[in-house]
Amino acid sequence: MASDNKWNKQPLGEPGADSSFDLVRYFFWLSLVLMGIATVAMAGYLRFYSSAQMLQLEKVRASSLVQVFENSLWPHFKPLTQMSNDVARMREMATQAKLQSNVVQLMKGTDVIRLKVYALNGMTVFSTDPTQVGESEKGNDGFESAVAGVPVSELEHSNTIDSFERKLNDRDLISTYVPVHGADGRIEGVLEIYLDATSFIASTAKQLWWLTAAISLAMIALYIAQMLVVKRAGRIIKNQAAKLVEINRELDGRVEVRTRELGDANRMLEDEIDERRNAEERLDRLAHHDPLTNLPNRLLFKQRLETALGQQPLQHQRLAVLFLDLDRFKDVNDTLGHFIGDQLLIAVTARLAEHVRSGDTLARIGGDEFVCILANVQDPATVNLAAEKLLSLFNQPFRINHNDIHLSASIGISFSPEDGTDFDALVRKADIAMYQAKALGRNRYQLYTYQMSVEAQERVLIERHLRRAIDANEIEVYFQPKVDSVSGRLVGAEALARWNSPELGSVSPARFIPVAENSGLIVRLGDQVLEKTCRQIAQWRGAGFAINSVSVNLSVKQLERDDFPARLASLLSICNLPASTLELEITESVIMAAADAFSMLEAIKALGVKLSIDDFGTGYSSLAYLKQLPVHILKIDRAFVLGIGVGNDSEAIIRTIIGLAGSLGLSTVAEGVEELAQVEFLQREGCTTIQGFYFGRPQPAALFAQDWAPKLHTL
Ligand code: C2E
Ligand code: CA
Ligand code: CA
Repeated sequence: MASDNKWNKQPLGEPGADSSFDLVRYFFWLSLVLMGIATVAMAGYLRFYSSAQMLQLEKVRASSLVQVFENSLWPHFKPLTQMSNDVARMREMATQAKLQSNVVQLMKGTDVIRLKVYALNGMTVFSTDPTQVGESEKGNDGFESAVAGVPVSELEHSNTIDSFERKLNDRDLISTYVPVHGADGRIEGVLEIYLDATSFIASTAKQLWWLTAAISLAMIALYIAQMLVVKRAGRIIKNQAAKLVEINRELDGRVEVRTRELGDANRMLEDEIDERRNAEERLDRLAHHDPLTNLPNRLLFKQRLETALGQQPLQHQRLAVLFLDLDRFKDVNDTLGHFIGDQLLIAVTARLAEHVRSGDTLARIGGDEFVCILANVQDPATVNLAAEKLLSLFNQPFRINHNDIHLSASIGISFSPEDGTDFDALVRKADIAMYQAKALGRNRYQLYTYQMSVEAQERVLIERHLRRAIDANEIEVYFQPKVDSVSGRLVGAEALARWNSPELGSVSPARFIPVAENSGLIVRLGDQVLEKTCRQIAQWRGAGFAINSVSVNLSVKQLERDDFPARLASLLSICNLPASTLELEITESVIMAAADAFSMLEAIKALGVKLSIDDFGTGYSSLAYLKQLPVHILKIDRAFVLGIGVGNDSEAIIRTIIGLAGSLGLSTVAEGVEELAQVEFLQREGCTTIQGFYFGRPQPAALFAQDWAPKLHTL
């Protein structure tokens, strides 16, 4: 870049071609020539002017001389002019000694060296050189001018001239033609006199020479002065040019340095731009990809889906969004740790990615949530096949760090355009369908239906109102009796949450408890139930209704709070209750899911609070694990009670559970007992306690006490 700098191409400091122009020499020649011309012109003009002046002077002088000759001699000449062309006679007359001597007499003391007289017809009628008499002057310019009344002088040089006395050599002559006027004023003839101007011209020439010399000297002086000035000016200019060169060179140097600096700065800037671009690319990648699996994240998935929706070309083609959620992934995370959880996610991604067509986008949009776009779907059946294929990928366990992890997934599917034509609608509905697949037992896929949305909306509605109900402490606690299977005496009760909403009416726990679990509201709800139950037991005991123990259902979210045992202990002490009056019901899945469940249960047990495993038989607890758990009671799930007398394997399962409990030193509670036959079977098999509508429905505390307090005392 720097080398392209146009400033570099023409250094400022180098003088251009003009610098070879030598002002002094140029001026020397030019002014020499001009002054020479001027001198010559001036001298020439002077010469011309002085000779003109001289002629003028001579003319005047000649005229006055002519006057003299005219006055004194004209009466002698006049008759000559009137003689017709008789040349001989004329010569005779002209050479008359008297006339000649008169003329010579007059000429003496003057510069006149010759005199000629012409008749008007041009005939020379007299001359100091008599040989000339009779010659015609007709046509001579001077003569003609004089005839016309204008005297004329001419300068001429003659090598020899016959003066009237002697022969003269090398003479400058001025001849003047002067008209002679008669008494009447008419011109009667012409006189021509020759003046010897030799000495006059010589002196004039001498003067001219001096003048020319003076002019030349003046010119030379002027020239020298001028040259001195020019030379000095030339030196000044040269100095300044040198200075200018120096300054320019310095400027060039500075420009070069600055250019180099700019180049360096430019390079640094380019480096910085590169760095920034890389950072931006990294940021862009981070912004659009999930760092763990390197799959597109929610943002990029959204862009891809919107692009795919924009391109959906044909009417009969559809686009499907598959929402895949791993089943019980949280359990893996909680029991095996986050590191294994992350490895598992990477392994799942690898397996999924291998089976997703190249044109279909697979993305990870949440912890264990994956989405997949199937574009250009001709036949919806192919989507079912794709979902089945994805589910089948989980048939083989994932091997992570020498652990074989068995995992399944649930998939919800939505279609464009039926279920929506934008990202939000399609993903929300696929999510709803996935939720339904989970609710239906997991490890399956569900196509979205409108009914699912209704249920989902209902869940949202319930959540909104439940939140407010919890804030307003509107959740009530009902109590359902538990009786001894043999004696039928009240041995305890189960506390069950009840919600009579002003807007929604009475809402079943089967509906609002899952919503509370999913929204996290269960923690506050559970705490409220626990507190109300403890206060109720304390109040009953104070009133003399000494109920043995009351069980409260516990959610995994409550168990996950580290301070739970401490808060439980303080609640018991505030209510002044012995710990043995409280029992906590926990499902197998809660035990499996809760992080560090074992030590938590130990802490609760250490307080003296009893623990029971709710819905026992429906989970997957291994016997070995069960043996280690610090629990006191197993609650046989209502599903098995329902199977009593029906002829399936429920009775066998109940027997096994009771046998197992006996061998582990645990007591058993059968729930959902509605019929006598069930009571009798459970009695026979040795089930310790019975709970169900047969003995009593869940009731408000007052009614419960009203029904059961008297029996407790009387029995
Ligand atoms: P669960 O713990 O298995 O509670 C027993 C459920 O069986 C109760 O339903 C009870 O009303 C019902 N039941 C008792 N005897 C009979 C019977 O003879 N026949 C029939 N058909 N049902 C009987 P409910 O009260 O609707 O509670 C449903 C579930 O809601 C509970 O099942 C429990 O898991 C949950 N739940 C209720 N209250 C709470 C609570 O305060 N905290 C938590 N975490 N869960 C609660
Ligand atoms: Ca229960
Ligand atoms: Ca139960």
